[in-house]
Amino acid sequence: MQVVEHPQEMAERARAIRAQGQRIGFVPTMGFLHAGHTSLMDLARARCDVLVASIYVNPLQFAPHEDLDRYPRDPVGDARKCAEHGVDLLFMPDSLYPPGHATRVEVRGVTDRLCGASRPHFFGGVATVVARLFGIVQPQLAVFGEKDYQQLLVIRRMAEDLALGVEVLGGPLVRDTDGVALSSRNAYLSPADRARAASLSRALFGMQRRWRAGDRDVARLIAEAEAAIDADRLDYLELLDAESLAPLGDPARPARAFVAAFYGATRLIDNVGL
Ligand code: AMP
Repeated sequence: MQVVEHPQEMAERARAIRAQGQRIGFVPTMGFLHAGHTSLMDLARARCDVLVASIYVNPLQFAPHEDLDRYPRDPVGDARKCAEHGVDLLFMPDSLYPPGHATRVEVRGVTDRLCGASRPHFFGGVATVVARLFGIVQPQLAVFGEKDYQQLLVIRRMAEDLALGVEVLGGPLVRDTDGVALSSRNAYLSPADRARAASLSRALFGMQRRWRAGDRDVARLIAEAEAAIDADRLDYLELLDAESLAPLGDPARPARAFVAAFYGATRLIDNVGL
């Protein structure tokens, strides 16, 4: 595995790889890697010739009061994990944007609810950084986790709308043994809050069980799940159409349950398909 630090060098490498007719697979991350991230690398590895991963904590997607400065980092451990999971090129830029950078990518509709509503700056920052990363890395395939399900839909929409020529593949959400969704942000939690955080996935899987047993009383399903959640503050708990993220209309369509909750200043998200 080779580490590439400069956007221009990464772009030149990518051009050369594509000129040889090779297929580039790409897994973008913010680092502090865990088994959720490496599962995406394994998925991509089997579907490309050259696997590129990136680590970049993107300032554009953090609001001033959020955790950009204290976002956890482990460059040495991350590089080892990437190498172990077949990454050929690890792109770790110090800075990503050119001087005078002034473009924002805005994806509408699918961003109206959930994290788009509670973090208004967020998906503009995500779409903008991913568009620029796609321009540099020039992948034919990019893999994103269903852990950030709304983000996966946003990137898919953007890739299609802007004809970026990238297939966007979703990878299943990876959980810890207690059901907690793996997240770099779990590192912020005290042991007590880490234990309480298991109530999020328990509540979602409770909804899933009821749904699969035929219960379609959405208001009651949500009320019961809310009562089962032990958090300092619930940000959202919603049951939505899995493709449009609009409120459920036709009960025959695929549905998905989404939660975001705070433990102190730490915001965790989770979701399950019903
Ligand atoms: P992040 O480093 O949090 O920006 O995440 C980078 C990529 O890893 C995104 O596509 C995430 O959806 C994905 N990811 C993060 N946590 C998990 C998880 N527990 N299971 C599957 N994918 C994940």
